Amino acid sequence: MDMTGSRALVVGASSGIGAAVARTLAAAGAEVVAAGRRLDRLEQVAADAAHLRGSVGALVLDVADEASARAGVAEAAERLGGLDVVVNNAGVMLSSPVQTADPAEWERMTRTNLLGTLHVSHAALPHLLASRGTLVQTSSTSGRTASAGSGVYAATKHGVNAFSEALRQEVAAQGVRVVVVEPGMVDTELASHLTDPAMRTLAAQIAGEIRVLDPQDVADAVLFAVSRPAHVSVNEILLRPTAQV
Ligand code: NDP
Repeated sequence: MDMTGSRALVVGASSGIGAAVARTLAAAGAEVVAAGRRLDRLEQVAADAAHLRGSVGALVLDVADEASARAGVAEAAERLGGLDVVVNNAGVMLSSPVQTADPAEWERMTRTNLLGTLHVSHAALPHLLASRGTLVQTSSTSGRTASAGSGVYAATKHGVNAFSEALRQEVAAQGVRVVVVEPGMVDTELASHLTDPAMRTLAAQIAGEIRVLDPQDVADAVLFAVSRPAHVSVNEILLRPTAQV
């Protein structure tokens, strides 16, 4: 799966799935801009990729801030001379039952997971239309099925799926591919931000009981999708740990 010459922006690349995607694309030969808020972590991802065939450069942006998201996409396109692949991976999971929820967490999830994805997609679109490129959206199994305790997180991911399917139909004839990736539980920092004690306990319990996915498992799926020949569009990838019900 050769990505030599491909110019990729991975948003939400400072840890977890996004860091693995940035590294994996660079290993396949792509020139990658890895974006997020934590510069030190992004620089570490870039340094770890120094020996790979392609390259990784760090870029600070905050997708929850529209101006920052748009400026970041523009900066990445300028640095790389265009964009062939854009991975919308930034996300936060601040799940809690509706009754006890802090609406500030709803706002943060919506701004990051949903609005952030919309703004980055919109800003990236002219570049992807020019390159007949590929837009990858990290959704979730929660983009398919809502469950008690994660209504708003699931709402943001359902929103990502709906937006992405509409966009796919709009740009298909112009050669742009839209890929939705829906992982089950992955071993990352995501659950460390949970503030609801019951949700924290539940996440730790599941992680202790089953063999969850590694970020690399998801990165391998992303690489598969973006490296298909131009006439093949992998619209959706749903992958769970085998033991996850
Ligand atoms: P991590 O917490 O390790 O990674 C989240 C990434 O999103 C980080 O790079 C973080 O960077 C970035 N991010 C968060 N907020 C912002 C922001 N406002 N602006 C820019 N970047 C931001 O968790 P994961 O790797 O698990 O999460 C990646 C994606 O995968 C998310 O969209 C998540 O919903 C999804 N997912 C995860 C699953 C799991 O079980 N782990 C399952 C299904 C989907 P920084 O903090 O530096 O800004």
